[in-house]
Amino acid sequence: MKVTQADIVISAVRPEQYPKENLPEFALAGRSNVGKSSFINKMLNRKSLARTSSKPGKTQTLNFFLINEILHFVDVPGYGFAKVSKKEREAWGKMIETYLTNREQLKAVLMIVDLRHAPSKDDVMMYEFLKHHDLPVMVIATKADKIPKGKWQKHLKVVRETLDLDPNDELIHFSSETGEGKDKAWKSLQYRMTH
Ligand code: GDP
Repeated sequence: MKVTQADIVISAVRPEQYPKENLPEFALAGRSNVGKSSFINKMLNRKSLARTSSKPGKTQTLNFFLINEILHFVDVPGYGFAKVSKKEREAWGKMIETYLTNREQLKAVLMIVDLRHAPSKDDVMMYEFLKHHDLPVMVIATKADKIPKGKWQKHLKVVRETLDLDPNDELIHFSSETGEGKDKAWKSLQYRMTH
């Protein structure tokens, strides 16, 4: 898809603040520093629309992006930040659970992982949580440019096996540096928008 318009429309904490439009929506989740903001910016052809890493102590919000006036991306604050307090973690969990389990517009969750490494314990927990709630997941294994092309399949296998990936869930290797996987990701999003 050619993105001609992309703007952040609201940073929400509570459901009353979510956009009211009935547009297909895709949530983006990933541990802090995995490359989630870079993924969003690459997909939307923008340099710095999505901001880098949520720091502990900062207000954790769901950031809604309106794209070409036909869909929303929802940037979910990163997980697995060691320095976050128990209270902050609980607030994060509640906000995410409320959103992910009640949002009818939600078509799929794009879970961003690092292709170089096996998914972390937090990644596995997140994936299990999403599957527990029967949510369709697209796993985006990013930073593909950091390993040789010849090793991609081997790394993808590790991701698939560590997550115990549901055969219905897609796994796409990606690079925010080279744009590898971008067309494939958009094709999949467009398909999901209409099915
Ligand atoms: P976030 O915290 O998940 O939003 O992560 P960022 O998007 O801020 O990325 C964290 C770091 O990884 C930054 O230094 C990025 O430049 C780098 N990065 C993200 N994606 C890629 C990628 O596909 N390839 C390479 N080489 N670096 C990346």
